[in-house]
Amino acid sequence: MSETFTPLARSRSSYYCKGSPVHFVMVELFRMEQTGETVVTLTFKNLYSHPIRSFTAHYCCKNRAGQVLGEDDFTYSNVDVRDGQCFGSDDGVFISDEMLGSVEVSLVSVTYDDGVLHSLRRCPPVALPALRPLEKEMRESVRSAMGIRALKYMPEEAPDGWRCACGGFNYNVGRGKYTCSECGADKAALQAAVQAALRQVRPQKPMYDAAQAFGQPHSPQEYGTH
Ligand SMILES: [Zn+2]
Repeated sequence: MSETFTPLARSRSSYYCKGSPVHFVMVELFRMEQTGETVVTLTFKNLYSHPIRSFTAHYCCKNRAGQVLGEDDFTYSNVDVRDGQCFGSDDGVFISDEMLGSVEVSLVSVTYDDGVLHSLRRCPPVALPALRPLEKEMRESVRSAMGIRALKYMPEEAPDGWRCACGGFNYNVGRGKYTCSECGADKAALQAAVQAALRQVRPQKPMYDAAQAFGQPHSPQEYGTH
């Protein structure tokens, strides 16, 4: 008998860990239809040029009242995760029979193909700018210009990287990453598509607008004519 999993929620990471070669990407919740329980999966991304062999994360799942339902380390063993690849979305790290209110995740350690265990506990979490949805009128135009359906946010510059319209954070300290590691969007092409869509929905205002010239008193500086 195969299990049926219904997606309940997906939340992108609101932070990245400075200096870490592995990044937390998102948490997803699924309902197991046979039992009604909730399964938690976590997705991470390898940003290092060598393949990951094993990786450990720490999670803490709370119910809606803020009580801890489960807290532990979870290790992804015998994986072969290459540079830029995401992993973890197929592994349930926690199963709950109660509704979840929050899931907190931190990075513990990673082992690459040299077999050396690297602790990630000292890589400090840095908050990412909040995701702003692309306006509905802009979404279609950006999607068709880029040929990528998953685009739905305004791209943002962030400390140490840039956030793509798919929501993916591209950490690029000193590495000049200009292609999104999650959806493949080229950063310059994406910015051009967003600018073009912005011009469509918000045509440039004229410098002088006769409709605003009378009625409300304006100081001359507001027209930039002094
Ligand atoms: Zn992307």
